[in-house]
Amino acid sequence: MRMSKLFVQTLRENPADAEVISHKLLVRAGYIRKLANGIYNYLPLMWRVLKKIENIVREEMDRAGAQELLMPFVQPSELWKESGRWDVYGKELMRMKDRHEREMCLGPTHEEVITAIAREGIRSYKQLPVNLYQIQSKFRDEIRPRFGLLRGREFIMKDAYSFDVDEKGLDKSYEIMAEAYKKIFERCGLETKMVQSDSGAIGGSVSHEFMVLVNENSETNAGENDVFYCPKCGYSANSNHAVSKLNPVNTDGGFEKAEIKDTPKCGSITELAEYLKVPSCVICKCLIYVIDGKYVAALIRGDRTVEETKLMNAFNGNEIRIAGNDEIEEIMTNSGYSAVAGFIGPKGLKGIEIIADETVVPLKNFVIGINETDKHLTGANWGKDVDLPSKICDIRLVEENDLCPQCSEKLKVTKGIEVGNIFKLGMKYSKSMNAVFSDKDGQEKPFIMGCYGIGISRTAAAAVERHHDEHGIIWPQSIAPYLVTIVPVSDQDEQQMKIAEEIYQKLLEAKVEVLIDDRSERAGVKLKDADLIGIPYRITVGKTIKDNLVEFKTRSTGEIEFITPEQAAEKIKKIIL
Ligand code: ATP
Ligand code: MG
Repeated sequence: MRMSKLFVQTLRENPADAEVISHKLLVRAGYIRKLANGIYNYLPLMWRVLKKIENIVREEMDRAGAQELLMPFVQPSELWKESGRWDVYGKELMRMKDRHEREMCLGPTHEEVITAIAREGIRSYKQLPVNLYQIQSKFRDEIRPRFGLLRGREFIMKDAYSFDVDEKGLDKSYEIMAEAYKKIFERCGLETKMVQSDSGAIGGSVSHEFMVLVNENSETNAGENDVFYCPKCGYSANSNHAVSKLNPVNTDGGFEKAEIKDTPKCGSITELAEYLKVPSCVICKCLIYVIDGKYVAALIRGDRTVEETKLMNAFNGNEIRIAGNDEIEEIMTNSGYSAVAGFIGPKGLKGIEIIADETVVPLKNFVIGINETDKHLTGANWGKDVDLPSKICDIRLVEENDLCPQCSEKLKVTKGIEVGNIFKLGMKYSKSMNAVFSDKDGQEKPFIMGCYGIGISRTAAAAVERHHDEHGIIWPQSIAPYLVTIVPVSDQDEQQMKIAEEIYQKLLEAKVEVLIDDRSERAGVKLKDADLIGIPYRITVGKTIKDNLVEFKTRSTGEIEFITPEQAAEKIKKIIL
């Protein structure tokens, strides 16, 4: 391809709304253009990258025995009502009506559609196992689309669904997908960590995420997930799922008797601990949440934080948020109190469920709110002054240096971008949608399902997060839009142009994906663009051509060699072998 013809416009400035490096570079280097919030045009260079990732995904999925199909992007509401998700999916599901007033939605994922396909097409255990996948645009009306392709509203996903006769079969299908995923990301030039993750409210199910770790790279804050991992035994989990053992601390507040004390303006744990001169780990914090429209009071040790996904799962919820001041006022009024946030306690709360994190159980002579503003109870004990709630769960966020649940080593934390996700669904969809097959004994059984996603467009952006420098993108060779770019320094120099053209033709013949920068631009502009766009190899034809030498530059290492044009072409040909 000739740069003079390539549809690409590079920019000198970063887009105003770009926070992370992949968003900045993909816009500046002419890969993407925003159409609407969270919705992007993939321009020719981007499309080449996406197709490369798709092809790697296809090859590995096919090799793993999965079969590709394509399901519709627009889906009827009936299927979603069957699975029960029409009511619980929330606003991420883009709903609309057709001209006949039938409710439809844009596919955010395809469990319902694929389950309907299996229900119709698979009658017997003899047809199992089967794994079906597609590569397609998804639409999710994300509450905070941001970071360019990392969290779009419309994005490209590979989604696969496995159907098995039993749990054992599912375990095997899952294992095969985990292996395929490792290969896929490796081939895309991305190091990933497979971590345990939250699998929602469906009890007993297992899921893992594939994370691109981005901590090492200080200028980027694109990792939306905290990953806790053990450097000793390899335990690793998303913060929404991670568990830990605690370092021992003294949880006895040391108060000699239970006593109500004035705690003016001590609405935060820090203020309260300072005022009472106690460590925050002897305070019992009480927070009010709203889970699927219902109020919940959560108790946790003062120095720890609630992990909202864990809390939500404890109630099989779908949506969680912290309660607002007016809602707290309502709870207080209903319970006959009038305290504001910071002074709430579990005692006497009416019409609200209470849950305690494990950390509050060992507290003795501790401090707790009593639903009176500017007052707290000190020296409280469970059973005597306040009842310990019957619902006790692990709802706390793990922190760095907590102890590994498996081997008690200190845990570490790092940021990660989730590029893929594998999930044991079990019978969640097959049961609710009555998708059954007849087993060996002729008995009807629901399919045992798994689902497996890869964010194709997010993977491309994650690759940029991991592979770039101050000059631009450094594509891993396997997903670069072109392998090599030939840059004649001056388009006025006939010899330079002639040699550049000769190398170009040679490489084209060898089926190399090659660019030639034949624009009449200054050398500086052409070299800058080459670096920005991130082509793995550059052959610069400049003054040294008088000695029959061209400059051969490897983008990733910055290594430069002066070799003959023939050697340069041969080198490239060897690379693609
Ligand atoms: P997240 O927690 O980041 O929202 P998710 O758990 O909702 O992800 P899945 O439903 O498992 O994601 O989708 C499978 C894959 O699709 C994810 O692993 C991710 O790579 C990609 N993906 C999900 N949401 C988006 C998005 N808004 N933009 C780009 N890619 C996405
Ligand atoms: Mg999501």
